[in-house]
Amino acid sequence: MLTTLRRIVLAFTQEPELNKALGNMVADVKQALKTDCCSIYLADYQQQHFLLMASDGLAQASLGHTSIGFSEGLVGLVGQREEPINIANAQFHPRFKHAPEVKEEDLNAFMGTPIIHQRKVLGIISVQQRQSRQFNENEEAFLVTLAAQLAVVIANIESKEILSRSKHQQNRQFIQGVPASPGLAIGNLYVSYPKAQLSGISLRKSDNKEQQLSLFYGAVRQTRDDLMNMSERMQGAIPEDTLDIFEMYRHMLESASLGEEITEKIAQGWSAESALKLVIEQYVVQFEAVDDAYIRERATDIKDLGNRVLYHLQQETSSRVHFPEQMILVAEEVTVSLLAEYQDKSLKAIVSLQGSTSSHAVILARALGFPAIVAVGNIPLSLFSDKQAVIDGYSGEIYLSPDEAILNEYCHLVKEEQELQQIVAQVVNLPAVTQDGRSIELLLNAGLSTEFNESMKNGAVGIGLYRTEIPFMERNCFPSEQEQICWYKTVLESFQRQPVVMRTLDIGGDKALSYFPIKEDNPFLGWRGIRVTLDHPEIFLVQVRAMLAANIGQGNLEIMLPMVSSLNEVDDAIRLINQAYYEISNETTQTVAKPKIGIMIEVPSVIFQLKELAEKVDFFSVGSNDLTQYLLAVDRNNARVSVLYDTYHPAVLRALNHIAEQAQLSLIELSLCGELASDPGGALLLMAMGYDKLSMSSHNIPKIKWVIRNVSYEQSQQILTQCLMYNTSDEVHNYLNDQLELLGLGGFVRAGK
Ligand code: PEP
Ligand code: MG
Repeated sequence: MLTTLRRIVLAFTQEPELNKALGNMVADVKQALKTDCCSIYLADYQQQHFLLMASDGLAQASLGHTSIGFSEGLVGLVGQREEPINIANAQFHPRFKHAPEVKEEDLNAFMGTPIIHQRKVLGIISVQQRQSRQFNENEEAFLVTLAAQLAVVIANIESKEILSRSKHQQNRQFIQGVPASPGLAIGNLYVSYPKAQLSGISLRKSDNKEQQLSLFYGAVRQTRDDLMNMSERMQGAIPEDTLDIFEMYRHMLESASLGEEITEKIAQGWSAESALKLVIEQYVVQFEAVDDAYIRERATDIKDLGNRVLYHLQQETSSRVHFPEQMILVAEEVTVSLLAEYQDKSLKAIVSLQGSTSSHAVILARALGFPAIVAVGNIPLSLFSDKQAVIDGYSGEIYLSPDEAILNEYCHLVKEEQELQQIVAQVVNLPAVTQDGRSIELLLNAGLSTEFNESMKNGAVGIGLYRTEIPFMERNCFPSEQEQICWYKTVLESFQRQPVVMRTLDIGGDKALSYFPIKEDNPFLGWRGIRVTLDHPEIFLVQVRAMLAANIGQGNLEIMLPMVSSLNEVDDAIRLINQAYYEISNETTQTVAKPKIGIMIEVPSVIFQLKELAEKVDFFSVGSNDLTQYLLAVDRNNARVSVLYDTYHPAVLRALNHIAEQAQLSLIELSLCGELASDPGGALLLMAMGYDKLSMSSHNIPKIKWVIRNVSYEQSQQILTQCLMYNTSDEVHNYLNDQLELLGLGGFVRAGK
């Protein structure tokens, strides 16, 4: 059953023509369930009806014409109830609607199931049979599973349709994503395809068959050479019979059928990558369906071989790439390393099909000051290729191939935004003081970019968070103590006599070191931050020693521990910091300053031990990005739940307020270094709660300073009181946006001045 399902879904995804794909699919389902009719209806939300798209059993003349209103007939009922309906004699059901043109008079049994993607009914798939009978459990399970698997693919098609409509009708169509970094960009899309994974390839046609053929032959040649070299290198190291695997791979590559099938597909107009995907995936499904375990295993081999050829194909194609001017980077998942790769290529904005608003890639985009849109959905990457686009990082709207009216509108808004930035830049050297005299320290979040220069200070009075893991991520082995001393010295010296908070290594989660891989099912709940470094004192001690040594003669270092969840961790870390301190003191005649030690408040458990923690450390810094993730149990990188990730959730706001109250009672220094501090509304609320140190990326400092200078502390407190009374994030957002407009600060949270 499972194999049949997989075969049907694969065939569906591999057929680029929608009507053909739907037609084949209904025929396959009808055959698999040995029934008399299978049909699929797709929802049209503008017309509020389901349109009959394909059927094997109903009159063919009705396809594309017959529609059933959302609240009509049995199909409408399946959509309304959002669950399968199984009826032995449909004609007698009160909701049965007679549509003479479909000619279903002799079909009695009916089972329909909705195709739902992200809570939205995309269509209905139904089976019908002459014999009046209830479909059995297995048949129902088959249809439900099929619908669930088709949902993602159909959601793609839906977006594809939107895209083609927006292109042809030139109307105001846009793709909606989740806004992740504010700002506007008009530029040219550049798609970064996932490397060497056939599953990540979107099917594409090419009009240059000769070129695609020569690319394919070249990749096969290189793969063959690789296999030869690998086999030679392994001689003597692994048993002879294991070496046979290389021989078998080579044989598969040479096998006339595999190569021939791929070249045939290229001759039909497919790009070399697409042809490879189509053929290899077909083989994989066939092999996986065989009962014999040995043959089933070969599916893995053939997949691996396909990915190897793909790797060489991609090497070839990427060396021919031309990056567009005003580049907007689009990728399945934009990561920090991907951003670093393209950062110097006149990058203007990023679009990530997956991902969430608080991923480190997004934080980096904000730090660099360009708009980002994430969680766009399962749209084929190829649909973004080589198009002009407008990116609205405030609303999450992406306009593909925009018409003149949209271009003019956004050119105007971009101009207004530039004017706003110029106005805001005037306060760079002024203090961050409210109109009634409350002063706030604005500090810098540093480390996200390797570069560091004077202009990046932007009026910051110190560094509130230096993410030391980022320089670690940009290397291919652990840095030596000496090398770390040089990095830290540069940072400490650039803020003479101003505090520099260096956070010890916070790897794990979405921050991986290529040379220290951590593979876990739940990385954000796993081995991360202080949990890793306490397990590896040799890494922690070298880092702390380097920080202390770099601080000699400076004296502005403060050390911060990430991901603390219990008091023991703090004790253990302090013990190691003291050890490093005594070691360095013994190795030099100069005075070694004892740094302040603080912890990040980002795991909910510590919210209930603040008093005890305050007795052990010198300061708290709230990491609102992780605090939100852990308090709401929403993975900060998961696009599927990204709408649930909201720092303005009443529970998060109340937790933040509670932390501030407790810190005041314990008379401990408090700051916040998560992204909330760089949001105009967030900064207002935090200031009112009593956070008088806010740390953010350089780009945001003038904007937040402007906001602080244009309100009174009293106004911010009134706004906070109201926000703390709301029960939902939406209420908080709406109220805050209204208040910002009233204060003349609306230009910071939407496009335009
Ligand atoms: C945070 O969690 O808010 C934080 C500042 O740390 P990071 O984003 O690096 O996890
Ligand atoms: Mg964090």
